[in-house]
Amino acid sequence: MSFSTGLKCRECGTTYPADARYSCDFCFGPLEVAYDLEAARGVVTRESIEAGPNSIWRYGALLPDPGVEPVDLGAGWTPLRRATRLAEVLGVRELWLKDDTRNPTGSFKDRVVSVALSSARRLGFTTAACASTGNLATSVAAHAAAIGWPSVTIIPSDLEKSKIAMAAIFGGTVLGVEGNYDDVNRLCIELVAEHEDWAFANINLRPYYAEGSKTLAFEIAEQLGWRTPDQVVVPVASGSQLTKVAKGFREFIELGLVDGEAPTLFGAQATGCSPIATAFADGVDVVTPQRPNTIARSLAIGNPADGPYVLDELRARGGDCGSVADEEILECIGLLARTEGIFAETAGGVTIASLRQMIERGSIDRDKSIVAIISGHGLKTLDAVADIATVSSTISPSLADAEATLRFHQLVAAS
Ligand SMILES: *Cc1c(COP(=O)(O)O)cnc(C)c1O
Ligand SMILES: [Zn+2]
Repeated sequence: MSFSTGLKCRECGTTYPADARYSCDFCFGPLEVAYDLEAARGVVTRESIEAGPNSIWRYGALLPDPGVEPVDLGAGWTPLRRATRLAEVLGVRELWLKDDTRNPTGSFKDRVVSVALSSARRLGFTTAACASTGNLATSVAAHAAAIGWPSVTIIPSDLEKSKIAMAAIFGGTVLGVEGNYDDVNRLCIELVAEHEDWAFANINLRPYYAEGSKTLAFEIAEQLGWRTPDQVVVPVASGSQLTKVAKGFREFIELGLVDGEAPTLFGAQATGCSPIATAFADGVDVVTPQRPNTIARSLAIGNPADGPYVLDELRARGGDCGSVADEEILECIGLLARTEGIFAETAGGVTIASLRQMIERGSIDRDKSIVAIISGHGLKTLDAVADIATVSSTISPSLADAEATLRFHQLVAAS
């Protein structure tokens, strides 16, 4: 049973029923799902959650009503791993990795899509759609396929081949737009007005979609033994994930489910698309749009919808926002893989490189606990690492050649 009560304007507080709207009739502010946390207190307990499924739906009481049953490929309940070897390299005491590569379609987007399409089905929609930088399209297409819905996913036409393949294989319609994500998003806002019977996960269903990201905070707290970490590093595209991770920790604290205070949040962006990091560094409230140019395509949103709210969350508790070059992103994909055995896509490289940058400049405290969110699998962006991850040597099929080469690589002693 869900304790959601409907939608509420973030700006003016006007409330609405839980239907397919996303902006306030009075002030055009974004709408959020609201909950009766008073009623949930004492009913939603550690025990009731622990008795739930090993997916995001163990937190169903604190998510939008999914109707009869959720649209569920098993998103969430991904591992939270103590990263001792990476911590040693970075010189920090307690580092944890939230390994969201381990989702049904390989990215954190499965969390938000499972929630969005559940709400869409409850509301009577029968077609799924989205504006995407790649991972969302894949997740929408997969979840739609699993319930027999047609899907229309719209992406920049020059995305990584692997991401296009992952979106297209599920059989929906994939539209490649000659333009960047911000062009795609603008087009989709026009399409929503023409096709009101299409559930655009991140546009007309956005309030529901966004709630899925709270489950990252819920899982992190539960997996730490019902305590909050001190610091959390979150990759930022539109900023939805970061703002809802903050909301998730607040809800758990308000319900008395966790020990500890709300963590300090830190953003992670690629310098080639860093509108929020730039506004943060400049100390301004207005996020100036940028034209993206980075290998971190999944984070390449130049005009982030939740930008101002991300700035609020970063500033609320002394956070910061990293901005890292493409070379650092690649280097840190390798660093993460070599130290912890996790292969992340470019967004994961952004998170680790930003983590390192903010440790070095002292905004992240080395002695306090840190969680970094690794949001997508490396197989999604194989092309990005094709030049740095190659065979060590090419040899003839002869023992002599093999042994000589192994000596060269210092795997066997020189004779
Ligand atoms: C979408 C995405 C994010 C975060 O996106 P927001 O729009 O900020 O919620 C982070 N990592 C990956 C891999 C993504 O696909
Ligand atoms: Zn309003």
